[in-house]
Amino acid sequence: MAQRDYYEVLGLEKGASKEEIKKAFRQLARKYHPDVNKESGAEEKFKEIQEAYAVLSDDEKRSQYDQYGHNAFNQNGGGYDFSGFDFSDIFGDIFGNFGFGGFGGGSRNQNGPRRGSDLAMTMTLSFEEAIFGAKKSVEVSRDETCSKCHGTGADKPEDVETCGRCNGSGYVTVAQNTPFGRIVNQTVCPECQGRGKIVTHKCTQCNGSGTEHVRRTIDVTIPAGIDEGQQIRVSNQGEAGSNGGPTGDLYISFHILKHEFFEREGSNIYLKMPITFAQATLGDDIEVPTVDGKVKLKIPEGTQNGTEFRLKSKGITAVNANRKGDQYVQVHIVVPKHINKRQKEVIKEMDSILESENEKGTLFEKFKKLFS
Ligand SMILES: [Zn+2]
Ligand SMILES: [Zn+2]
Repeated sequence: MAQRDYYEVLGLEKGASKEEIKKAFRQLARKYHPDVNKESGAEEKFKEIQEAYAVLSDDEKRSQYDQYGHNAFNQNGGGYDFSGFDFSDIFGDIFGNFGFGGFGGGSRNQNGPRRGSDLAMTMTLSFEEAIFGAKKSVEVSRDETCSKCHGTGADKPEDVETCGRCNGSGYVTVAQNTPFGRIVNQTVCPECQGRGKIVTHKCTQCNGSGTEHVRRTIDVTIPAGIDEGQQIRVSNQGEAGSNGGPTGDLYISFHILKHEFFEREGSNIYLKMPITFAQATLGDDIEVPTVDGKVKLKIPEGTQNGTEFRLKSKGITAVNANRKGDQYVQVHIVVPKHINKRQKEVIKEMDSILESENEKGTLFEKFKKLFS
């Protein structure tokens, strides 16, 4: 990105006075400081105005810049390195009244409400529970608002007093003498840590923390169609917030056990179905299990091993899916492992008939020719 002109960055003309430069910087810094402006690009903008101010507020640097432009500081056009510039006096001026402890001070209000942490857990479900949904109980171990003091941390309501040091504001004003002059900053009150209140007798149940650790059993409704790795959010079942902040949430992700016969892929179900040689050859009407019960399936004459049949809408409705999936049935011809003498004779006879009458010109014939 090409470097913008420093005057342009501050919205000024080249001959601007020192007062104008300072004023422009204060206005822009107040607008783009990362503590107040969370918009994307604000941070870059803030750096840009800092860089411009660091140069233009310094008489020597400014005259160098006026003569040589950005090349005065960096031959590669990388901009002026303002990391050594002390902004503390001007930031103290700007932000002191807003509770900021100067630039990057990090002493922001700890008095405000804070949301409780989220909890996460994994639950194992059977194949059927995942498909049809379930009601489950889970045990969580979490911090809850203390039932005795309701989060105040005080033994009795009268054991809470307004902090004498900050008069309940949570902030104290600190004046500092620096080479740039006297800076007045507001910082978090060290007496009450910004709470504005002092507890004279701590709650005996939570020892003043305002929260207590408890184990809870929570009833959870698992939606039908949940799949491996998916997650649900159970609102307000996480850790307690502090200073009146909201409770966190509980996230449950799922591990789903495999079924003995059914396999699931999203909304579809896959099943391997054994059939006999006779059923495959002659065709048959068979009954096939689905997750909703038995369904009739017509096996046509001459069905080959591994043929897949689709049972439309006999799958499942996955979470967030708007239609029901299908069930795919792949047939497997079962070859008997043990046969008796009589069966052997019949099969041999059948084989010779099939070979002489039906199989000429077929794949078998082609193979025979190929290897003879
Ligand atoms: Zn308590
Ligand atoms: Zn205080």
